[in-house]
Amino acid sequence: MWGMIATWRMALEGVGKGAEMLRQGGDAGDAVERAVREVEDFPYYKSVGYGGLPNEDMEVELDAAFMDGDTLDIGAVAAIKDYANPVSIARRLSGEPVNSVLVGEGAERFAHKEGFERKNMLTDRAKAFYRKRKKEDEQELKPYKGHDTVGMVCLDQKGKMTAATSTSGLFMKKKGRVGDSPIAGSGFYADSKVGGASATGLGEDLMKGCISYEIVRLMKEGLHPQEACERAVLSLDRELKERRGKAGDLSLIAMNNKGEWGAATNIQGFSFVVAAEGAEPKVYLATLGEDGRCTFQEASREWMEDYMRTRMAPVEE
Ligand code: ASP
Repeated sequence: MWGMIATWRMALEGVGKGAEMLRQGGDAGDAVERAVREVEDFPYYKSVGYGGLPNEDMEVELDAAFMDGDTLDIGAVAAIKDYANPVSIARRLSGEPVNSVLVGEGAERFAHKEGFERKNMLTDRAKAFYRKRKKEDEQELKPYKGHDTVGMVCLDQKGKMTAATSTSGLFMKKKGRVGDSPIAGSGFYADSKVGGASATGLGEDLMKGCISYEIVRLMKEGLHPQEACERAVLSLDRELKERRGKAGDLSLIAMNNKGEWGAATNIQGFSFVVAAEGAEPKVYLATLGEDGRCTFQEASREWMEDYMRTRMAPVEE
């Protein structure tokens, strides 16, 4: 038994690579790192790695994390600049007994010392988006539709589970802003005795519910991942609306150590990818019902084609 689940359609190619490793008996740490790197390296995904959208100073500052569900080791980097694969740096950090979460310059110094690949992560395309956004009226800072943080949960044949995230965070964020993605329990959590979860959406709100940990906790109580995701998302969404009048985007995926999976969201248009034994990786679209419950369907061929077309279309400035 093995499996993998990931946020957003953009994870598909990476999940394909990771799933192949798992099928051949590979390690959940290697598979999840390989899968996230694939997303980081693809320049047209403008919210992760190379080609990620910059902060308000036009710098690409990246957040990433890795968790080993056997040992509960965690590694994370935040606001790191000029390194090609933040997820790999996070994973390396997860092996450190202390100093395993590093930010900014400290993270860069560690990456340099460990010989990680340096790269200017700001593409001409990302600069064009930046200039375009500058010309538009001041807008509320929020995740933009359909292609945000990549977050994954992975189960290998030995029963080991891992979770990993990678993101450029919110477009036009303040320099030094850190979202949920490198924060254990909020952006991700994995415990091989139970399962794992990962989040995408408005980091500031996801963190208010420590929502990935909450989902793992609910699974530990015996809930199916679907039930756990729905309950956690619905209740955080409700609390935020009650106390603050509104809730940011909250989209979650989870898998337990039996390979059962679930997803929940408070927005329309959340897509995610699932790979499991005996099936090709598939893209699902979540539809949010009036009652806050989610239903899923497999993405159609038209949707898939349209997705790539819009991702790669020239930027109209
Ligand atoms: N959760 C990420 C953040 O707040 C953004 C996202 O998922 O789009 O940095």
